[in-house]
Formats: sequence, C-alpha cells, structure tokens
Amino acid sequence: MRAWNASGNANFNLMCCSLCTSGPDSHEHLFFECGYASEVWNAVKVKADIGAITNQWHAIFDYLVGIANSNKASHVIAKLVVSAAAYFVWDERNRRLFTTKRRSKMQLVDVNLSRVRLKLQTMRFKSSVQTERVLRNRSLPRGLLLADDDNG
Ligand SMILES: [Zn+2]
Repeated sequence: MRAWNASGNANFNLMCCSLCTSGPDSHEHLFFECGYASEVWNAVKVKADIGAITNQWHAIFDYLVGIANSNKASHVIAKLVVSAAAYFVWDERNRRLFTTKRRSKMQLVDVNLSRVRLKLQTMRFKSSVQTERVLRNRSLPRGLLLADDDNG
C-alpha cells in the first residue's frame, strides 16, 4: 500500500495514524501511545481508578490478565473501561479513515463513559463496605448494589 501511495494522493496515507496524523498506524501506537488515544485513555482510566497503569498495551494486558476472573466491582468496572476505550479508539480510527466524520477527544471520553455506565445498569453487585466505597468513589449509583433481600 505504501508503494501504491507513493505517487498518489498524499492525504490518503494508510500507514499513518488517522487520529494524530503523525504516528504509525500500529497496534502499539493506537493503544494508547498515540497523543489523541492517550488523552482519551488517561481521562477514562482515572474514572475507573486505574490511573497507575501506563499507556503501554503490555502493561494494560498484564493488568487485565491479573483480574480476568475477578467479579469484584472495581475489577468489573476496570475491565469495562479498558474494553470500551479500546473499542471507541478503534472505532474512531476507522471512522476517520473511511468517512469525513470526526469526534473530539472529549466526545470520545463522554461516549466511552456513557457506554460503561449503560452496561453497568445491567449488573448488580453484592453489597459490602468495599463495594459501596468503589461505587461512591466512581460517582456510581447505589442502585447497582443488590437489595438486601437478594443477598442471601
Ligand atoms: Zn496517533
């Protein structure tokens, strides 16, 4: 594709990241070393209280492997946030490659967090002091806790 592009339209460069238009169109760059993608990732990871994880995919992957089988509220939320961030960054990359539509970083953060909240509405967590603190720290409603009747 690089050879085809050499004498062609300079704006149609498939080897260049469509989000920042300066980095390579690679997996490592997109998740989340890219300037655009890293700003989105930095904003959403703070909301999930996983701000300590770096922007390198191997670090994110190692974290996910460690919590893969956990049903703790904090871990469920973290997994949802990572998957939503990866999905929406990928979606925005494709949108910019194949359409003229663009979303700002803040729009992508908003759609990301909305999707996570929507998904959480379908879940209920067992009530505990720790889980209540997790929901409170992330500004999530107590309605995500199982009613006392359901706890048995
Ligand atoms: Zn980029």
